[in-house]
Amino acid sequence: MCKHHRIIHRVIDVVLGLMVAISIAATLSGCGTMSMNGSNGDPTFSDLEAMLNRESGMNQQISIVVGHLYGDETNVGAYTLADDDTHIYVTPPMKRWYEQGIVTHSMMALIVGHELGHISHHGKATRGGPSEEIFSDYYGLLFIEEAKSDGYSINLREAISIWRLPQRSAPASASHPSSESRYQRLKEKLDQWERQGK
Ligand SMILES: [Zn+2]
Repeated sequence: MCKHHRIIHRVIDVVLGLMVAISIAATLSGCGTMSMNGSNGDPTFSDLEAMLNRESGMNQQISIVVGHLYGDETNVGAYTLADDDTHIYVTPPMKRWYEQGIVTHSMMALIVGHELGHISHHGKATRGGPSEEIFSDYYGLLFIEEAKSDGYSINLREAISIWRLPQRSAPASASHPSSESRYQRLKEKLDQWERQGK
């Protein structure tokens, strides 16, 4: 974690039902010593950020940061906050898995693309719930497909297998479809693309 990038970020997250949460975030990009910088065409976080900012069409810069909301020390995931269009938060365990290679570059790119799908929902009355997750999964898939055609080393099938990692598998909840159904939806889409010769 780069100290000079450490910022204190105070948020009120209505969607999560937290009254006030204080999140200390450290931007990952620009941390040259971190092992997550890619090689052989793997997209780095700054590559992903550049793509995010190109794709979002917004004037503001989106940064990928480590998020420390309450509970995140055990929660493996990534998230955005309803009142914040400029950060994608990666939880410490997710970052650790990434550094250990359990979550691959392709998987992480999918997760980041998924979160951009959520940012596109910010401010919408219909936001939240399983349908937004499904939309964001497709959004993530399109995002990494784009990254692949930009020349980054992305394996689409490997990326979607994040939903089959034993550590990440979860049953359906009020907010999220089951991990297995998310995997199956994206696999169907990849099979369809393959049949269409994409
Ligand atoms: Zn999501």
